[in-house]
Amino acid sequence: MSLVRSSAMIGFELSEDQKAFQDLARDFARNEIAPAAEHHDRTGEFPRAILEKAWESGLMNTHVPEDCGGLGLGCLDGTIIAEQMAWGCTGIGTAMEANTLAEVPVVIAGTDEQRKKYLGRMMDAPLYAAYAVTEPGAGSDVAAAKTVAVRKGDTWVINGNKMWITNGGVANWFFLLAKSDPDQGAGKAFTAFIVDADSPGITIGKKEWNMGQRASDTRGITFEDVEVPDANRLGDEGFGFKIAMKAFDKTRPLVASAAVGLAQRCMDEASKYAMERKTMGKPIAFHQAINFMIADMAIGIEAGRLLVQKAGFEIDQGRRNTYYASMAKAFTADHAMKCALDAVQVHGGYGFSQEYPVEKLMRDAKVFQIYEGTSQIQRLIIGKELFVRR
Ligand SMILES: Cc1cc2nc3c(=O)[nH]c(=O)nc-3n(C[C@H](O)[C@H](O)[C@H](O)COP(=O)(O)OP(=O)(O)OC[C@H]3O[C@@H](n4cnc5c(N)ncnc54)[C@H](O)[C@@H]3O)c2cc1C
Repeated sequence: MSLVRSSAMIGFELSEDQKAFQDLARDFARNEIAPAAEHHDRTGEFPRAILEKAWESGLMNTHVPEDCGGLGLGCLDGTIIAEQMAWGCTGIGTAMEANTLAEVPVVIAGTDEQRKKYLGRMMDAPLYAAYAVTEPGAGSDVAAAKTVAVRKGDTWVINGNKMWITNGGVANWFFLLAKSDPDQGAGKAFTAFIVDADSPGITIGKKEWNMGQRASDTRGITFEDVEVPDANRLGDEGFGFKIAMKAFDKTRPLVASAAVGLAQRCMDEASKYAMERKTMGKPIAFHQAINFMIADMAIGIEAGRLLVQKAGFEIDQGRRNTYYASMAKAFTADHAMKCALDAVQVHGGYGFSQEYPVEKLMRDAKVFQIYEGTSQIQRLIIGKELFVRR
């Protein structure tokens, strides 16, 4: 094979469809999301009208399979859209992606009936769903979760508390992880369920007033003697943990792409300001200290985007991508945080004020290092993949 032919094996060009999705999402983020971001950050109001428009434009639930009425887009396609949406506001982007996080376990493990019923309804109306795994005492350490599911004939009775559930107050249904056999290790102790949000016994907690991403609705949820039919059990008994973790292979690249979107926004804002603001006779962009800060932003954005694409591409090829998904998540989250800190620095005193968007970007960035597995947990997974699984 010639060198020319082998170099043609790697393609960095998006397909025509991907470019069309990217353009659609970019326009939506600039025209619909960005202008409303400050309002939703200040008020914490759930961005229902924006999300309904996104739903109508086909920008939500993009991975729902075609036989359930969706577009059936791949993970890589989803990352292209998520990056653009996040540029506008990662709080609004997170509200959108929380649907994906709840839906992916159903895509992975749902029966035909469950998929048609719960994914199909997301395509029939602009509804929301939530992934309810974390508990007040168990986040990174999922195995320490205390929520239990006890089988009584054809019904399961669920008791426990979930915490930090995105879309918690607006969800139509929950993906829920509960211990059905607490004496077993994590790999066998959990069973997964789809729980209708209007089931008796569910109490939705107050909206958490978070540091950033305030457009997104995060709540604690209590389940008290909630009855769930066995028909809503997702996958086999004892397989819940595997389903919940497997979902991350498809959703971490999306979260990582949102972190790239935020980093890109930081760079765009910092570049603009650095050309406008003059000190010592020239735009601050031409002081090397500022110039290098922005150059470092660009390096990490390009590198992070490639990691995201690699993680998305691998899973779309049907290959296990846990290693790449965690790398993409860890790298882009840390870089987004760095870009946000530096974007504030580039703005000097104005960066510290709410007049410029970089203050919000800095608050929004932090949670990328926390949700869907902290930056420490991603490194733990990468280390395990390197030394245990290979
Ligand atoms: C805004 C927001 C939205 C969220 N949305 C959802 C959602 O929709 N659904 C859901 O289920 N959860 C959600 N979460 C929960 C999130 O996934 C957890 O907060 C996260 O996994 C960390 O868990 P924790 O908060 O219990 O922290 P802990 O697990 O207590 O961790 C505390 C610190 O210790 C570190 N640490 C813990 N264990 C180790 C270890 N073994 N080695 C090294 N360091 C370690 C962590 O990295 C962290 O720095 C959300 C959280 C937030 C803040």
